[in-house]
Amino acid sequence: MLYQGDNNMSMQDNYVTEMESLLRDLAIKIWETPELGLKEKKSSALLAETCLKEGFEVKRGIAGMETAFVARWGEGKPVIAFLAEYDALPGMSQKVSLAQEALEEGTPGHGCGHNLLGVGALGAAFALKRSLENTGTAGTVCYFGCPAEETITAKGYMVRDGYFDDVDAVFDWHPADINTVNMKTTLACDSVEFIFKGRSAHAAGNPEWGRSALKAVELMNAGVNYMREHTIEDVRIHYVITDGGQEPNVVPARAAVWYYIRSPRRSQVDELSRRIFLCAEGAATMTETELEIKVTDKCYNMLPNKTLSRIAHEEFEATGVPAVLPDEEKYIEGLRATLTKEQLEETFRYNKMPLDYPNLMHKEILPLEEDGEVSPGSTDAGDVSWKAPLAHVRVACKPVGVPGHSWQAVSAFGSELGMQGMLTAAKVLSRAGWRLIENPVLVSEAKAELENSLIKEPFKLALTPDLQPPVT
Ligand SMILES: [Zn+2]
Repeated sequence: MLYQGDNNMSMQDNYVTEMESLLRDLAIKIWETPELGLKEKKSSALLAETCLKEGFEVKRGIAGMETAFVARWGEGKPVIAFLAEYDALPGMSQKVSLAQEALEEGTPGHGCGHNLLGVGALGAAFALKRSLENTGTAGTVCYFGCPAEETITAKGYMVRDGYFDDVDAVFDWHPADINTVNMKTTLACDSVEFIFKGRSAHAAGNPEWGRSALKAVELMNAGVNYMREHTIEDVRIHYVITDGGQEPNVVPARAAVWYYIRSPRRSQVDELSRRIFLCAEGAATMTETELEIKVTDKCYNMLPNKTLSRIAHEEFEATGVPAVLPDEEKYIEGLRATLTKEQLEETFRYNKMPLDYPNLMHKEILPLEEDGEVSPGSTDAGDVSWKAPLAHVRVACKPVGVPGHSWQAVSAFGSELGMQGMLTAAKVLSRAGWRLIENPVLVSEAKAELENSLIKEPFKLALTPDLQPPVT
């Protein structure tokens, strides 16, 4: 196994090492200032301003979102892009600690590690830019500031509005508990809010005058839950009631329910949404309420590009897995001790690792799969992968088995484990970008592979021109 530093340093590794203190500083600042999707004003400003200082041309507030931006440097082909995310999760505030303790109760926290994600991608973009600049080579580096990944919002709108039109290749990464280049696809998804409007009345005095919007929500959900049996196994449908009325003694005149509707293929989601809309309409009819349907986001499943994934995998092997410093071992053991045997076994099984895997941090890079399975989540990077060839790298930034969106994850992503993973990601992604600069034929191969896929299943924008990001 290869640790960082054991290998032959590439030009890109040196640039990442050169800017290490800048990257650490940014990742910690964003971790300490967790902001929810579309409200990431400080985090996006920090990254956009850092790009400006590096000499990138920066366009902020793109695709109808104040916290979205694109930074470009260089001229000519190929155009190589890196994706940044920086949104946090509600109620996940957490210290770097071995016990669950909030930094500030009830506030957001970086449970998905997007503090590392955005900065790692920035390190990759800067290292590639410095390589082009110092060797006088043609090529363009793009760094996309993509807000609100957690609600699968931004990238679809950025694709729809043409920001990826001239992009030739995309390298993306995510903090994880394992080291791998992900060939798994994701679920396509619709995010839809159903708002019912009825008539209020005294719930005890004159219930016959009331028409309950909450009853409409309940009936709609009952309909969808009966429908669930008649869908394919990979389908995921879940909801939260965002408005259920105010007090029991008032018949609710307004109620709302927010759905995620997911399936492996975009066309399956379209069909499921059609059926769920019928449930909503049926509920409105039964309760004599009015129905408003607000589609906020739609995304495609991920289409991993084999050519780019192979390159990313080779560069990951050459870079080595993140270093684990000796004084981190106590912390790693402590975090691992908070996990159950079942959690660990599930992780090993899912990643096809031996069930008695001995290491607390993942110390290998998983072999590249030929064709990935469906992973039961969704990401708006899916839309990007249908527009330009994309490879997705996952780097260990927390002990094996630590689940995403957990307090242990927030803790690890603010710790040295997160920083080491982020630095590795910056190196792997910038090396992969440089491989394309040096071998333009690989760009053509990656694009031909995507074009082949699009012949079998064409890419049709899921987000129609009338839809707008849910900015409030
Ligand atoms: Zn994430």
